[in-house]
Amino acid sequence: MAENYKPKDFIHEIIDEHNRTGRFGGRVHTRFPPEPNGYLHIGHAKAICIDFGIAEEYGGLCNLRFDDTNPTKEEVEYVESIKEDIRWLGFDWGNREYYASDYFEKLYEFAIILIKKGKAYVCDCSPEEVRQMRGTLTEPGKECIHRTRSVEENLNLFERMRAGEFPDGAKTLRAKIDMKHPNLNMRDPIMYRIMHVPHHRTGDKWCIYPTYDWAHGQSDSIEGITHSICTLEFEDHRPLYDWFLDELGIHHPQQIEFARLNLTYTVLSKRKLLQLVEQKYVDGWDDPRMPTLSGLRRRGYTPEAIRKFCEIIGVSKNNTVVDIALLEHCLRDDLNKRAPRRMAVLRPLKVVIDNYPEGQVEELDAINNPEDMGMGIRKVPFSKIIYIEQDDFREDPPKEFYRLAPGREVRLRYAYFIRCVDVVKDKDGNIVELHCTYDPKTRGGDAPDGRKVKSTLHWVSADHCINAEVRLYDRLFKTPDPDEGGDFLRNFNPESLKVLLNCKLEPALKDAKPGEFFQFERLGYFCVDRDSKPGKLIFNRSVNIKDTWAKIEARMAGK
Ligand code: ATP
Ligand code: MG
Repeated sequence: MAENYKPKDFIHEIIDEHNRTGRFGGRVHTRFPPEPNGYLHIGHAKAICIDFGIAEEYGGLCNLRFDDTNPTKEEVEYVESIKEDIRWLGFDWGNREYYASDYFEKLYEFAIILIKKGKAYVCDCSPEEVRQMRGTLTEPGKECIHRTRSVEENLNLFERMRAGEFPDGAKTLRAKIDMKHPNLNMRDPIMYRIMHVPHHRTGDKWCIYPTYDWAHGQSDSIEGITHSICTLEFEDHRPLYDWFLDELGIHHPQQIEFARLNLTYTVLSKRKLLQLVEQKYVDGWDDPRMPTLSGLRRRGYTPEAIRKFCEIIGVSKNNTVVDIALLEHCLRDDLNKRAPRRMAVLRPLKVVIDNYPEGQVEELDAINNPEDMGMGIRKVPFSKIIYIEQDDFREDPPKEFYRLAPGREVRLRYAYFIRCVDVVKDKDGNIVELHCTYDPKTRGGDAPDGRKVKSTLHWVSADHCINAEVRLYDRLFKTPDPDEGGDFLRNFNPESLKVLLNCKLEPALKDAKPGEFFQFERLGYFCVDRDSKPGKLIFNRSVNIKDTWAKIEARMAGK
């Protein structure tokens, strides 16, 4: 039987092997563990698609677990946005919404077990001393004097750490592993630090907080996770992940690492995204230029396009940089099938059709989506005065410019052929108005005598159109690698947002609601901004349509 053969990625291979050997009794249970210290971005979408997607494929479950072990940077606002974004992407964690902080008591008990086994000790070294004694990749670390404390003394000190007797940084609890271990993560890593800081969920209950390494694997174990999928930077932490679980003798999930997503023209570090927000380079976390899921959503990205993108990039062990054009392609591809077509003029140029009867209005048929005739047709009003795009006229057309010019004939989409007969200018020489004639025999857009024109322009009727603000976005950074030159903020693209206040739309767009998307013919895909209201419409350009003219222009400019 012929079947579509799709090569398996390494994660599927590992899980299939576990299912064969029965390591987890055939169970597949994953988790997505965001730290609530920022908004989710497109890199997280990759992780979400893997964590939830794999669970779904194997008929398993995926938990949502907030990794809230660091009280200083975490906020409730982030928790809410993370949940909204995962739901929007189309995934569901059922009632399995967990928090690492729910396990603080249990983790404390686990720590006591390790202390009693002689596998953890309270250390008085300062962070600086810990760093100095840790050694390097080529030099072994040194054991500190606190390492030989008795179990009783450790139990006593650890209890008093919890009780709040010591100031921040005075002591830590460390795993007692091996200061000469070739893997630096195994050189007596810190399990707890003292921080007299309230936590967004546990309040003042704790003044000692577990480190990521100590919290993560044990939280996985408590939840019965089978496959703990994370990004490559945790590969070197896996021996420690395994060591804790083995020493405690509890359920032992398999950690699996994959390469994180990097995108050209994009930063995906939460620290840098926060800087863009705080220093007002952008208008908040959901600015349509941001690679956050809320930004992409506001920009007009669909969950379908993002999931498709994640499917195409797949998973691997190699750190690569994906071209942002691929993400844009996925959106274009999705919207091409689904977006209703409309006509909109962004930079209007008035055109008077001299031989068109004064006061006459025709309702012309326009196709809503040539990719899907099921989407039907609509009526577009045509009259004596229309607007076309300023860009679609050149008084002195260069060689490969085929649009309107003096004496030249072009087609108006769904309407008539028009020929330019006169150009009106203001006293400064700016073109303010064109005069044209139309050929009544070309209604619908074709000439009965078979004569051809080289271009078709979009247009709107001046008496019927509605006004709108349109925001055009470009890449947030000027260089494919925003970190080029050392400081990403210096590569910020100041032209990444252009606001056009005087755009003219065909009347069918009057009731467009926030979140709805359209193709503006010849211009690109646009969605209605969340701040848009009837009478004050605001559209965001999601992505352009491939524009051959832009390429020609670039070629002529010698680029
Ligand atoms: P940052 O390093 O910017 O703080 P993070 O990795 O610490 O981000 P978390 O909230 O801890 O952010 O991430 C949650 C999950 O998403 C983790 O499993 C992490 O590995 C994964 N993840 C984060 N960034 C990416 C990325 N660029 N590509 C794929 N997965 C990612
Ligand atoms: Mg993290």
